[in-house]
Amino acid sequence: MDPSVSVRAFHKNVHGEDIKVAVKAVRGFKDILPGQSENWRAVEDVARDVFESFGLREIRTPVLEKTDVFVRGIGEHTDIVEKEMYTFPDRNGDSLTLRPEATAGVIRAAIEHKLYAESGTLKLFTMGPMFRHERPQKGRLRQFHQINVELLGTDSPLSDGEVIWMAWDVLHELGAQDLRLEVNSLGCPACRKEHRKDLNLYLEQVSPDLCPDCQRRSRTNPLRIFDCKNQRCREVMARAPLIKHHLCPGCSDHFGKVLDVLESVEIPFVINPYLVRGLDYYVRTTFEILASGLGAQNTVAAGGRYDGLVRSLGGPDIPGVGMAIGMERLLLLLDSPSSRMTTDIFVAALGREARDEVMPWIRDWRRMGFVVQMSYEEKSLKAQMKEANRLGAGYVLIVGEDELDREELILRDMKTKEQIAIPMDDVISRVENILNRGDE
Ligand code: ATP
Ligand code: MG
Repeated sequence: MDPSVSVRAFHKNVHGEDIKVAVKAVRGFKDILPGQSENWRAVEDVARDVFESFGLREIRTPVLEKTDVFVRGIGEHTDIVEKEMYTFPDRNGDSLTLRPEATAGVIRAAIEHKLYAESGTLKLFTMGPMFRHERPQKGRLRQFHQINVELLGTDSPLSDGEVIWMAWDVLHELGAQDLRLEVNSLGCPACRKEHRKDLNLYLEQVSPDLCPDCQRRSRTNPLRIFDCKNQRCREVMARAPLIKHHLCPGCSDHFGKVLDVLESVEIPFVINPYLVRGLDYYVRTTFEILASGLGAQNTVAAGGRYDGLVRSLGGPDIPGVGMAIGMERLLLLLDSPSSRMTTDIFVAALGREARDEVMPWIRDWRRMGFVVQMSYEEKSLKAQMKEANRLGAGYVLIVGEDELDREELILRDMKTKEQIAIPMDDVISRVENILNRGDE
């Protein structure tokens, strides 16, 4: 298709008249602007460092997958699959979906490339955008970002503990305050079967008091009712039979050992016996880290164990445990100031000859890692000083005809307003030394 056709069509109304509308981002999709992106990168860097200290490696999977990956991976009767996915047919008719979460895609990749065969436990992290068609509000977007961890191939409670520990350390390292870690065990399919019998009996009695969604859930996925945000449902479920009374000895022991790990590394937690997760595949450990000060969307990180998932996506029967940190919520929590542009040195070259002269110096300083800027236009010294100020330059190097003749340049410290002369034949290392001193 000729791209200009669609662009033109876009600017006409139904009557074919030209309309002038500013093009805006899609609702619930946000730009991450300069000034904000620095904070994003700082968070990602901390997460990378923490994960690498646990021996994890990064994986990046596509944002688009076959719809089936998520239907099988997340479960048909979940909010995500039932009403939140961006699903559309590819041009050949295949159903595709923008990933609403990372785990299913990471596992699809691990199976496809047989990554699990390489070592005992496959320890992966990933970060990137996720897409869910939800009502946009504070801490809830349609394109949002997660930092994810997945450990595949072990059911050791130490791995559950480490996953929580990693989430906790990332938040802690970033200085997030007033966090509350809630943990629970959802048991295995055997304990769940026993629990479900009791739960179904209870739900039959209270069904009229539940919201329409939960009435439906009581037939399809009753555990999810614990997760309903409706106040009435919460009250009703406060008296519901709890999974903790049905844990088999294996699950009970496993849960106890996860809590031991948390205690041994001094991570404070509370057991919340009502905590379930929105996705079908969770078994045993489940956890959330909540932050006061986020309003209604107060879960900043969440995760748990998903032992049946790899198999249900067509892989071998290996267990797994993982977690996701919500980037936007985390950044809200950190209240990071927007950062300004800074420039180590601005080179004010006046005239063609000066410009040619300074180019190799600029190249060398940039290669040393300094931020070096210059004017793209031929401008007066006054205009260039103004630009240097706007760019937050620490120093300005003034190179005009006179300076070239004298073979001596002027370096102005923008903070102290002091100016010093620098011999031209030594300019690269002299400036390097001065800029390095500024770092101290
Ligand atoms: P919630 O109950 O808030 O809808 P969830 O159970 O759907 O969360 P998960 O699927 O567990 O969330 O995703 C993990 C994390 O990703 C959440 O704890 C949250 O921090 C973040 N998150 C989930 N959905 C959104 C969204 N629409 N916008 C921003 N962040 C989100
Ligand atoms: Mg949700």
